[in-house]
Amino acid sequence: MRFDHVLVVGAGQMGGGIAQVIAASGRRVSLHDAVPGAVDRALGTMERSLEKLAQKGGADPAEVLARVSPAAGLVPADLMVEAAVEDVDVKTKIFRSADELLPQEAILASNTSSIPITSLAAATGRPEQVIGMHFFNPVPVLELVEVIRAVQTSDETAQAIVELAKDLGKVPAEARDFPGFVSNRILMPFINEAAYALMEGVAEPDAIDTIAKLGFAHPMGPLALADLIGLDTCVSIMGVLHEGLGDPKYAPCPLLRQYVAAGRLGRKSGRGFYEYG
Ligand code: NAD
Repeated sequence: MRFDHVLVVGAGQMGGGIAQVIAASGRRVSLHDAVPGAVDRALGTMERSLEKLAQKGGADPAEVLARVSPAAGLVPADLMVEAAVEDVDVKTKIFRSADELLPQEAILASNTSSIPITSLAAATGRPEQVIGMHFFNPVPVLELVEVIRAVQTSDETAQAIVELAKDLGKVPAEARDFPGFVSNRILMPFINEAAYALMEGVAEPDAIDTIAKLGFAHPMGPLALADLIGLDTCVSIMGVLHEGLGDPKYAPCPLLRQYVAAGRLGRKSGRGFYEYG
């Protein structure tokens, strides 16, 4: 399957990055967001990212951007990649609408970090063509795509998405549909423990992140990474892990919840564990 035209739903930090890498592969992209101005902001971020990549030999920014069209709503396409906010009701509604609107043979993929793909698949009339396509942040830079098969996903759908990921220059790795899949089941407890260490006064944020960076050779510490992901997104993912696995060890640290309640969402709001200019 070529997927000549891809609909990306949600133009936040992930949706914009996903639209960019798909357009850079030569495909046409329609980009939709429910909030006015979000697509324009995403196009601005894309332009800056493409300009940086062009200096290192990447594709011509104008050519790539010309393949991305803003869409006022969902539009028919060969593939949908949903990257809206991490909320099961929002995603379920999008999957129902896409199922009504997209051609019968189209595949419906979600970039969700944790929401069960099996339940998104069950909300559609084509459950065998629903799959998780989980990109990593920043999408134009990180190579991994976690491919998550719902219970209902067909081999053909999984194969087509693995091949697409490779064609985008990414490395696919397959996971089953259990809460948090592989990546966030490992990452979120790590971030949560760092938040507890801060809350209990074990160390300052800088010290916690320096210990992880230099001690474990991680490119960034857990608190800086949580700020990059978005503290609201982290709390949502931890909620899914907590409920889905039924173990209190996954419950979000109260400090994380408090920051989210205060609007300290990380980089996207200008302040999380750190302040951003
Ligand atoms: P974000 O908050 O930056 O963007 C979410 C976007 O969704 C917003 O622009 C919002 O207006 C839009 N939206 C909300 N409801 C919508 C609807 N009904 N239709 C269309 N658009 C809608 O969030 P993000 O970090 O880009 O995360 C998006 C998805 O990607 C989430 O499922 C998240 O779990 C997943 N994800 C995030 C990361 C990360 O590092 N942030 C990494 C991998 C996967």
